[in-house]
Formats: sequence, structure tokens, C-alpha cells
Amino acid sequence: MASTPLSQRNPAPIIGTVNSTLRVPRIASIIILLVVALPLFGELPTADIRELLDETGAVLEWDEFGRTGVLWGSDESIGFTPGEEIAVVGFSDLLHVEPILYQQGQLLVPESTRAAFADLLGQAPVRLRTVTAIVVDAGHGGHDPGTYQDTTVNGQPVRVMEKDLTLDLARRVQAALRPQVPESLVLLTRDSDVYLELGERTEYANSLREDETDNILFVSIHVNSSSLTWTEARGMEVYYLPPDHDRQVLDPSFAASLDPEVSTIINDLREEEYTRESVMMGQAVLDAVSRQLPETPIERGINVANFFVVREARMPSILIEVGFLNNRQELVLLQQSGYRQRLADAIAAGIAAYVDDFETVH
Ligand SMILES: [Zn+2]
Repeated sequence: MASTPLSQRNPAPIIGTVNSTLRVPRIASIIILLVVALPLFGELPTADIRELLDETGAVLEWDEFGRTGVLWGSDESIGFTPGEEIAVVGFSDLLHVEPILYQQGQLLVPESTRAAFADLLGQAPVRLRTVTAIVVDAGHGGHDPGTYQDTTVNGQPVRVMEKDLTLDLARRVQAALRPQVPESLVLLTRDSDVYLELGERTEYANSLREDETDNILFVSIHVNSSSLTWTEARGMEVYYLPPDHDRQVLDPSFAASLDPEVSTIINDLREEEYTRESVMMGQAVLDAVSRQLPETPIERGINVANFFVVREARMPSILIEVGFLNNRQELVLLQQSGYRQRLADAIAAGIAAYVDDFETVH
């Protein structure tokens, strides 16, 4: 966005009105000007800079030592120094402003400066990182049915298989998620009844990262079964990898390009970050499910488990067990396409909320 000097945009309206429309004698006009102007300059309306940040979603980078600041908005950046009448827009254009004041650790922005900055900064929250791709993995497939339950539908024997439910749910999650995260690819590890090795699923997800700044999320969908006998257990469970698991999360070629010691440190930091992000993504999914599907108990919550898919995906990754096939109530629910749609909508809403949180700087 181009910057326009403030003086061109707001041609001193109050004083101009007094002079030109009343056409009073010269001395009188000076007195009126003083009367009008004094209260304005006597108590400049200012507001804490945090109000500007709240209003615009911009981020303030403040250098306490150099006493300079940069506001990062969605449309523009503005550099400023308290007490200076010049701000720098987009690191190139100068903008005349009423100076920002720095008093007792507080940055106070005059009203005219706030309005000019708000116009330039834009209104959208600042996104400094984006999720490149979200991989939705339908558990099992092909000759591997996962867990299953034999039941009857209209008097006919039916075998309900985990692999069919996970594929149906994964497709529904993909369709529901796409419009909510238009900047991210939403991909399936399988879109038909085929068998994939666990390593093929995570390798696929890992291969999507073209460089170190790409952020990818991995969500594997499964259906629970504690044993083949009927159970009272029900509800959704989310698993992530225990943080103390020593895994290589850096891309091998990237790791090889680093000093071995540096590589170990970065790997540890990255592993911690992925664990934290996995928990946050899992919590976002559970929150959305408890909001949108009150009939699905989620007190089983988030758990750690050393599943292959969460271990081998070099990214924030969770495994969702959507419910129990050997719980009579949940078996009935999972056989209904309407319930599966609501379940998929809730999972998608949770992932979308997490993506929004991940991309937005607070
Ligand atoms: Zn499974």
C-alpha cells in the first residue's frame, strides 16, 4: 500500500473552517484559532500502542536499547522513533506524523498517528508462518481391515471394518477442511481401499517438505477397540509421541549439512516444538469435538503413545481414535453417515482452529 503524507490526507479541518466560513476580522480569527487550538495541543489525545495492536492485529518489535520500534501489519510495516515526526513506511517511504511518546515504559500514540498507522497496517492478523500441507491419514486399508465388528443391518449380516470408516472419515475431513485453510494443501495418504505400509504414510508426509520453512501437519485417523468383546469404554482419544522419545526430526539432508553438535541441539529443540504443537493440535480437535458433538465423551483425552506414525512423521503429528467399534452405542453411531459427517466436521474445525493459531502471531 502506498503511503500518503498525513498532511495531504487530513488538511487541518478545524482551523480551516473557522477562518474561511466565518470570515471574522483577522485579530479575532487569531483569538478564535488559539481558543480552538489550545485545548487540542494542551491535551493531545493519545492511546497506548497496545490499542493500535489490538485494532489492527499488528505486531510490535520494540528495541529498548535503540528506542526504536517496528510495527508489522498484514499490509505494511512502519518504523518509528518516539519523539520523531517522521515514520518510515515499508522501510522506504517517509510519513509525517505527530510523534509517538515514550513515557514510563509506555508508548503513547496521538490520535492522528493512530488513524494513519491503522490505515496503513491493515486489519488482518499478521501471519508470519503458514501451514504448507496437512496430511490426513486413513488408518489401515487393503488386506489390513484394522479392527472390525460383525453386526446385522436390516436382518443382513454386516462386517463393519475400521479401514472403511477411516477412509470415509478422512475424505470427509479433507472436504470439510479445505475451504477453511485455503492457503494449505489438504492431502490424503490413501483415497481408496489400498494397503500402505506405515513407513509409506510417513514418508509421503515427510516428502512434502521442500525446504526447512515448510510446515506440515500429520493427522492419522483410527477406530478403537480394546478387545473383540463388547466394552463400556467409549469416546475419542488423541495420541501424540512422548516428548522423551529420542527421535530424529530433522530432515536427514538438512541434518547432514550442519555441524553434528548443532544438529543435535536443533533436533532437540525441534522435537520439543513438535511435541508442544502436537499436544496443542490434539487439544484443539478435542475442544471442537466437545463443542460440536456433545454425545461423544472425550474424557479419555490426550495420551502419549509410541505409535509408528507419530514417531516417524517429522512434524507435529497426532493419531485420533474416533471411538470404539466394540461399544454398542458407538458402533451404531459410526455406521450412520450423518454422524460420521458431524465427526469429520468437528475434527476439521479443530485442525483449522489449530492452523489459525499456529499461523497467527500473538
Ligand atoms: Zn487402527
